[in-house]
Amino acid sequence: MSAVHRADRGQWWAPLTISCFLCHNPIPPDAPAVMWAGHDDVFLHATCGQELGVHLIQDAREAMLGSGEQPWRRRAALALRGALVLSEVRA
Ligand SMILES: [Zn+2]
Repeated sequence: MSAVHRADRGQWWAPLTISCFLCHNPIPPDAPAVMWAGHDDVFLHATCGQELGVHLIQDAREAMLGSGEQPWRRRAALALRGALVLSEVRA
């Protein structure tokens, strides 16, 4: 991912008329944006980029946790242990 600044807009890789991948609204040429170059270039409002990034991280962690692979199994056990200890203390 990279930041797209006002001066970048209008370059061949950052057209003036682009829409946000997440909210589908236009990204004004003077607004900060984020670009993700992949099979297709993806443009996002800066705030939409933050929102998407957080959701991607959460979904990736959930997927890895669900796989049962290390270190996620150990982290899940520690989180469960902590919750159990906390509930015993409060009881
Ligand atoms: Zn957006």
